[in-house]
Amino acid sequence: MIVGGGVIGAATACFLARDHGAAVTVLERDPNYRQASSALSASSIRQQFSTPINIALSQAGIEFLRRVGDELGVDGQKPTTSLVEAGYLYLASPAGAAQLRANQALQRAHGAEIELLDTAALQVRWPWLATDGLSLGAHGTRGEGWFDGPALHAAFKRKAQACGARFVQAEALAFDTHSDRVHAVRDTQGKRHSGDAIVIAAGAWSAPLAAALGLALPVSAKKRDVFVLDSPARLPGCPLLIDPSGVWLRPEGAGFIAGAPPRGDDADDQPLEAIDHGLFDAVIWPTLAARIPALEALRVRSAWAGYYEMNAFDHNAVVGAVPGWANAFIACGFSGHGMQHAPAVGRALAGRIANGHYAELDLAPLAAERLLRGQPLIEHNVI
Ligand SMILES: Cc1cc2nc3c(=O)[nH]c(=O)nc-3n(C[C@H](O)[C@H](O)[C@H](O)COP(=O)(O)OP(=O)(O)OC[C@H]3O[C@@H](n4cnc5c(N)ncnc54)[C@H](O)[C@@H]3O)c2cc1C
Repeated sequence: MIVGGGVIGAATACFLARDHGAAVTVLERDPNYRQASSALSASSIRQQFSTPINIALSQAGIEFLRRVGDELGVDGQKPTTSLVEAGYLYLASPAGAAQLRANQALQRAHGAEIELLDTAALQVRWPWLATDGLSLGAHGTRGEGWFDGPALHAAFKRKAQACGARFVQAEALAFDTHSDRVHAVRDTQGKRHSGDAIVIAAGAWSAPLAAALGLALPVSAKKRDVFVLDSPARLPGCPLLIDPSGVWLRPEGAGFIAGAPPRGDDADDQPLEAIDHGLFDAVIWPTLAARIPALEALRVRSAWAGYYEMNAFDHNAVVGAVPGWANAFIACGFSGHGMQHAPAVGRALAGRIANGHYAELDLAPLAAERLLRGQPLIEHNVI
C-alpha cells in the first residue's frame, strides 16, 4: 500500500510490481496531480551533489533515463523522456571557489565526470558568457542535463499498472495498527485499505502521515517559481547554468526557463498562483543580462510555480523504514531533486521492502534515524 502516486510512489509501485511480483495499491488523492511536485518540476539531472549517496542516485538515474524505453515499455510501446545531456555549469565567485573545488574532487572520486574551468577556459567554451566576478566553473561533461519529468512519471505509472498495480483515488488520513505493524490505511471517507506493508510517499504533504506513526518529519511545502522566457538569442552549447547568486537558466524548447531562490520569508504552503514577478524583475533579469549580454532582449512568456518538498533538517530525502515499525516505510523530502532520483530510489526501496535488505544501492544514509539522532546529512548543492 503506497500513499501518494507522484513519481516516487509510482516508481516504487512499478518496481514492486514488475521486479518482485507484489500486489500493490497506490492511494492518490488527486489523479490529475494538480499540485504534485512531479507535475510542476524543472526535471533536470546532475551529478554535482556534495554527498556520495546523492551522486550515486544520480548515476543510477542517468543510466535508467538512457534506457527508459526498454525499462518501462508496455505492449511494445517504448516511452521516451527526451533526455538532453547538455551538462550543468556551476559558476563560482572567488568566495565560492574552494567549495566548488571540494565538491568537484568528491564528485570525481565517486565517478562523476565533472571538469573545472578557469575564466579563460569558460570564455573559450561559451563565448556568450560574461565572466566578470567569476573565479571558476564546474561542468558535467556526461550524465547531466534535463528531460521530460511528467513523461517519466506517466511511464512509471503505466508500467506499474501493466504489472498489476492499482491506483485508487483516496486521501489517506490515519493508520490501523497493532503492536509494531500497520494493518491498514484509513481514508478521509472512513474507508479502510489493508496491505502487508505501507509506504508514505506523499511528497510535501508527508509530515502529518509520518506524525500519525510517531515520526516528527521536518518536511514542508516551499513554493518555487519558474519563468518561461522567449529570446532571439542563440547560445550554442548552453548547459543548465547556475550563477553564484543562485539564479539558474537552461534551454527549453526554442527558449529558456529560469529561476532563483525565493525572496522574503519563504513561508510554507504559499499559494501556487502567487508568482513573485518582482523576483524576475529585481533579481533574475538583471543577473541574466549581466552574465549573458545576448539575453538582454528576453521576454517572459509565462511562469509557473510548484512546491519543493523541503526537508528543513538537511535538504536531503528521508527514505527507508519508519523507526519503530516492522512494515512501514517512507520516501519523501527530496528538497527539489526527487525527479532525477526517483528511478534509483524506487528500485532500491522496492528491493528493501520485498527482501528485507538493500541490494546494490544501500540507502542507509537517507534513513530517518538521522533525524532522531540529530545528525544531518548536509547537502550543500541545493538549488
Ligand atoms: C519548480 C520545481 C522544480 C524542480 N526541479 C527539479 C529538477 O530539476 N530535478 C529534480 O530531480 N527534481 C526537481 N524538482 C523536485 C521534484 O519534482 C520532486 O522532488 C518530485 O517530483 C517529488 O515527487 P514525490 O512523488 O515525492 O511528490 P509529489 O509529486 O508531490 O507526489 C506526492 C503525491 O502525494 C499525494 N498525496 C499527498 N497527501 C496525500 C494523502 N494524504 N493521501 C493520498 N495522496 C496524497 C499528492 O496529491 C501527490 O500527488 C522540482 C520541483 C519543483 C516544484
